[in-house]
Amino acid sequence: MNFQNTLDFAKGLDDADPLKEFRKKFFIPQHNGSDCVYFTGNSLGLQAKNTKEYIQQELDDWASLGVEGHFQAKNPWMPYHEIFSKKLSKIVGCKEEEVVVMNQLTVNLHLLMVSFYRPTKERYKIICEAKAFPSDQYAFESQVKFHGLVPEKTIIEVAPRKGEHTLRTEDILSVINEHGDSVALVLFGGVNYYTGQLFDMKAITKAAHAVGAFAGFDLAHAAGNVELHLHDWDVDFACWCSYKYLNSGPGGVAGAYIHSKHIGNKEIPRFAGWWGYKKDTRFKMEKGFEPIPTAEGWQLSNAPVLSMAAHKAALDIVEEAGMSSLHEKRKLLAGYLHFILNEINKKQNNEVLEIITPDNEMERGCQVSILMLQRGREVFETLTKQGVVADWREPNVIRVAPVPLYNSFEDIFRFGKIINSILN
Ligand SMILES: *Cc1c(COP(=O)(O)O)cnc(C)c1O
Repeated sequence: MNFQNTLDFAKGLDDADPLKEFRKKFFIPQHNGSDCVYFTGNSLGLQAKNTKEYIQQELDDWASLGVEGHFQAKNPWMPYHEIFSKKLSKIVGCKEEEVVVMNQLTVNLHLLMVSFYRPTKERYKIICEAKAFPSDQYAFESQVKFHGLVPEKTIIEVAPRKGEHTLRTEDILSVINEHGDSVALVLFGGVNYYTGQLFDMKAITKAAHAVGAFAGFDLAHAAGNVELHLHDWDVDFACWCSYKYLNSGPGGVAGAYIHSKHIGNKEIPRFAGWWGYKKDTRFKMEKGFEPIPTAEGWQLSNAPVLSMAAHKAALDIVEEAGMSSLHEKRKLLAGYLHFILNEINKKQNNEVLEIITPDNEMERGCQVSILMLQRGREVFETLTKQGVVADWREPNVIRVAPVPLYNSFEDIFRFGKIINSILN
């Protein structure tokens, strides 16, 4: 498409947008009486207006039914988590029995590493991206130490080449091959939180399997953002949070995926709890753990229903919009944002900024990470004062993520206009 940097053009794109009505389903934070340009859906997605009603339903049932709500609530609490299997299978691309909603992201990462990181004397390394999200780094490091190993010799980080910001797939694959038989686990983000780079999960999984290792992904920045086909890509496991692109509220309940070839395998070690126990005999309360032969077999505790109600409210909206329409709009939004930023930069002799997120739409999601070559902090602070909610990462990166459910093309135009006015 031939984009133009004008308000009329942006409004024209909004008028033609089949998802334009969805913005009205969300509370948009306000600045001086008008809508903020909210570009941090990659950090905390906005609240859907139906959220209160969904949570209220559970509060009302709790008030009127007490413990009986486990069976008699409008949405019985006992099997509450089961409603997510279908919804999430469409978002992450898997079978319904391969996905479960439970805990929070870092907890799930640990639980899945208990199952899929089982180092031996010969095969013990973890291959990951350099500058993974800190919580993931701490999880890797503490798991390695838990097994009595030394992180420096065990965790192999793949870094960008000198002068580059993102990873080349060929480099990731060659590091996996190079370490070959010593690799126990290849564990990457789906989309890197800092650069916004979308990794080639299919190729990484294939390379991990070729050397006999498991492949897992942290999809915090990918779930609800980019196209995923976890089952078809043969990914062994994955986990994600629900409060970024899935709009389910701060600290919301998280998700986990385990490939169907593993879910029935009782021999896979795991940290167990009663909610992972076979449903028909769970309440016999007997000794000896018998896992449910689905991803639910990894559950520990009973469902946090209030948090799940918010998740359900948000996912009902995703379902109504449909993932394929969301992907289409997402690509157009990111494309327009790249265009606007490049226009601004050209006017300034390409001296003010560098987009470090890949240009290729197959290698990115919503997020665009802008490395400010000068006046970064000043630009960021002025944007904030003028009602743009973006995110600053040291030393010099502004991250923005226009999301298809509630951002508009006009948001992007306004963002560009403010940057332009700061620089001139
Ligand atoms: C946001 C994010 C987290 C946060 O973890 P929580 O356990 O939800 O606090 C972890 N890893 C990645 C890659 C993230 O982007």
